[in-house]
Amino acid sequence: MTTLTNPFEIARETLRLLATRRIPPSPDNYQTLYHEIAGTKPAGSSFPEEQLRSLAAALPKASPDQLRLARQLDEAVKSANWADYKKYLTEFIAALAESQKLGWADLISDLLRQWEAKHQGLTATRKRESIEHILNSSSANPDTLFNRIESLLRSWGNGKTSEAATLANPAEPENSEIGQFSGLTVASTDLLPELRELFAFTLETAMATQLLESPQLSSDAKVLAKDIRTAVSPEQLQEFLTRLKRFAFKLELLAEDQTELRHSLLNLLRLLVGNITELVLDDHWLHGQIAVVREIIDKPLSQRALDDAERRLKEVLFKQAQLKASLSEARDAIKHMLAGFVDHLADFADATSDYHDKIESCAVKISSANDISELENVLGEVMRETRTIQINAQRSRDELRSTQQKVQESEARIQELERELETTSDLVRHDQLTGVLNRRGLEETFAKEAARASRHDTTLCVSLIDIDNFKKLNDSMGHDTGDEALIHLATICRETLRPQDTVARYGGEEFIILLPETSLDDAVVALTRLQRELTKKFFLHANEKVLITFSAGVTQMLATDNQATVIKRADGAMYEAKQTGKNRVVTAS
Ligand code: GH3
Ligand code: MG
Ligand code: MG
Repeated sequence: MTTLTNPFEIARETLRLLATRRIPPSPDNYQTLYHEIAGTKPAGSSFPEEQLRSLAAALPKASPDQLRLARQLDEAVKSANWADYKKYLTEFIAALAESQKLGWADLISDLLRQWEAKHQGLTATRKRESIEHILNSSSANPDTLFNRIESLLRSWGNGKTSEAATLANPAEPENSEIGQFSGLTVASTDLLPELRELFAFTLETAMATQLLESPQLSSDAKVLAKDIRTAVSPEQLQEFLTRLKRFAFKLELLAEDQTELRHSLLNLLRLLVGNITELVLDDHWLHGQIAVVREIIDKPLSQRALDDAERRLKEVLFKQAQLKASLSEARDAIKHMLAGFVDHLADFADATSDYHDKIESCAVKISSANDISELENVLGEVMRETRTIQINAQRSRDELRSTQQKVQESEARIQELERELETTSDLVRHDQLTGVLNRRGLEETFAKEAARASRHDTTLCVSLIDIDNFKKLNDSMGHDTGDEALIHLATICRETLRPQDTVARYGGEEFIILLPETSLDDAVVALTRLQRELTKKFFLHANEKVLITFSAGVTQMLATDNQATVIKRADGAMYEAKQTGKNRVVTAS
């Protein structure tokens, strides 16, 4: 058997084998068979996803290296790839160990050499003060101490060689919190005017125009350019350097985000190209797919939009594959059975026309018979032929019955397959009724938003909303109207909230809303706006306005929270909103 690689084909083959081998379609059997066909090992049970995810979440994310590690670990957990996880972690630790091998011996001999050397504008007292200052301010951290002494020595070295090393303010202490830039502080007041202008020009023209898609950073670059032109005192320069460093850190974060964006975009394209052959069956689908991609390209590229598009595309592809498989199977089965039945009918028709011929010739023989013994022979023949035709008729009826039975069995099997597909369709992340994310989709998006919030140090608010008196609406207007009301609420949520907010169906008439980069106060404002919109854009049933209200609990995600704890808190607040009169928004802190 050739090994299949396309997941759709593997899934289809798995279901086919379940049916043909008559194995009960339990999830375990499906998984075992799936791995048998794919030639893979079951991973789920041996990969401690939760523990590894929480380990990755607990690691610090302050520096770009640490952020990179967090992202790598996140990916490894997502693809349940223990080998990668181990590799990234060991590489990181090895690099850390390498960077910690500080060259103390060289540094100390350099210190001694520079201590004794003469530097323009630096007295021995001043040198001692600088060293003392560093020793006092570097607490117990050897890395910081090493970097600061190294920077200081570099600045002394600059002082010795620089022609323009006279300080505007010789009493300025080397009070630098910004390690690698501190070398600049001594000589910085004398930045050549040309250099200063060039620096400003680079920030203003080269940087700011590169950052058009990040208006905040672009304007930061312009402000920095203005400041470097006007900063004259050492204090101003010091302040400028601190802000420059912060700017550089933000730039690094931006670069990382853009890499992630490109990565997702590539995945999306690969997915499309890899599956385009799956789409030729039905033009309608092809148009749908292309519409999704066109929509993404038309809008400014954002991580969220790409994630969403990728998810939707996967679902469409998956559903189409499953539909195609069931349809062609059903078509084949019925074609096969019909062909068999037509053959039998033809045989039967042949046999009956044969029978008529024979009976006719018997009739001729009877009319021309001269004695009883001759008649006896002819009658014997008639009875033989009649019996044969009876047997044939009987057989055809049996065949017809068994064909009927086979069709029924085949129908039942298709239904069973469909049910099986429904339960095993891990890829579906959207609620089928309302089109918003389902719980599985929420879990994934939530993890991403939480990681993003901790990476960028921004706030993430979480709200749980529950429709008021929904049972009454169902009871008085019918379940279908209830369904329409749910669709209406989901639509208003999508229209009213920002594109970066997430709406998910959490249960029957409960929805979760994630509001990234939003303070608790702003979250309350957003939810109140949603309530107002619901009263304006009311739900129409049989030309009658039906007012839908909801009660909401909202809370901000904390560093100590996980998805479950934050949802529990929002749920508690929602409960309070119900208890205190419904149609309210209550916060939990
Ligand atoms: P409260 O204001 O306290 O929330 O009362 P309620 O009636 O909204 O809440 P309750 O939990 O008593 O009833 C929820 C109802 O939602 C019961 C259930 O039949 C209905 N429901 C759950 N899922 C669906 C669905 O998908 N469609 C429809 N039409 N109704 C649903
Ligand atoms: Mg409820
Ligand atoms: Mg309710």
